[in-house]
Amino acid sequence: MTILKMWRALFNRQQLDTLIFFITDRCNSRCRSCFYWQNLNQHSDLSLDKINKMATSLPRFTSLLISGGEPSLRDDLPEIINAFSKHSSISFVSIPTNGLLTDKVVMLVKKICSTNTQLVVTISVSIDGFEKTSEDIRGIPGGWARSITTLKKLLALKKNFSNLRVAVNTLVCRETLDTLTEFSDYLIKNYSLDAHNLEIIRGDARDPSLKEFGPRELQKIFDLEKKIHLHYFKKNFKSPNTLRRIYHLAIYLLSLVVMKTQRRLLLKKQPWLFDCLAGRTIMVVDSRGYLKACELRPAAVDLFHYDYNITKAQNSEDFKAEIETIKKTPCPCTHGCFINSSVRHEPLGLIKTLLLR
Ligand code: SF4
Ligand code: SF4
Repeated sequence: MTILKMWRALFNRQQLDTLIFFITDRCNSRCRSCFYWQNLNQHSDLSLDKINKMATSLPRFTSLLISGGEPSLRDDLPEIINAFSKHSSISFVSIPTNGLLTDKVVMLVKKICSTNTQLVVTISVSIDGFEKTSEDIRGIPGGWARSITTLKKLLALKKNFSNLRVAVNTLVCRETLDTLTEFSDYLIKNYSLDAHNLEIIRGDARDPSLKEFGPRELQKIFDLEKKIHLHYFKKNFKSPNTLRRIYHLAIYLLSLVVMKTQRRLLLKKQPWLFDCLAGRTIMVVDSRGYLKACELRPAAVDLFHYDYNITKAQNSEDFKAEIETIKKTPCPCTHGCFINSSVRHEPLGLIKTLLLR
């Protein structure tokens, strides 16, 4: 990756830099924390043909964030990524997985990494703590061991693919709070991860009681998160490759901005120090083929009416009206992807946020 491409990836001002795409509504897990639970297993996934139309309609952008459902349930996951890699010249793809289908996940990741050597591929296995905690939340007996096996096999794959990053995503909710520190230490001691992301529970969870925790617990989480980010930054910054070191520094600074923005909002009830660019630099396509400016808002445009041409749908009156609503009535949330994408386009907001204590 050239310096120019990295600069574009991290600070470019082109309209779209990140697309969140819910490629499937199918899921083999039963998480009580799921915010997408009302849409799951409706069998409404878009065909590869429609996805190809979407990819060809978009200008070049930077990051594709795959979501779902469980992405590995789509056999054509590599072809979906190929479509965006070929037509939209993406530089980064991020794929979450619950890790329940070890062999399938490993096979898909091998295929994606080998056919897209120019892409930085991040696969994040969702593990919410030790066995009992994780299985109580995710609802699959024996699921923890399967996810851990997947994690080990993915880490082993890194020897063959220099473009592969392997991370763990851990949910922050009422039932994971007590074991978060111990679990993050366990991951550091036992696995050579690229990142460990703490994700504060969001949206309309299937079990709303998981969202019941207060400011004291939150402060502890942010203290822990700061240590985790620093640990993985120091580890990754040892890379002999200068460009990679710059990339890791940028990732670290952005993770601090996300954390500080969330802390300011949740603990002090103060808004972001920059505009939310939902619908402009970051957009969402859900598994039914609806284009949304924001993952957390209901307004959506049916891509069917635009023959799956995202650019045309983006220019529709309905979509423009949604962006205007977001501009006029700020609705600050803790969504890391939207904070990250928005702040990259406002250097002043980025600096001000970094300077927050
Ligand atoms: S959180 Fe993810 S893995 Fe869990 S039920 Fe929802 S879509 Fe499936
Ligand atoms: S602030 Fe959050 S909820 Fe509001 S539009 Fe942006 S991402 Fe959506």
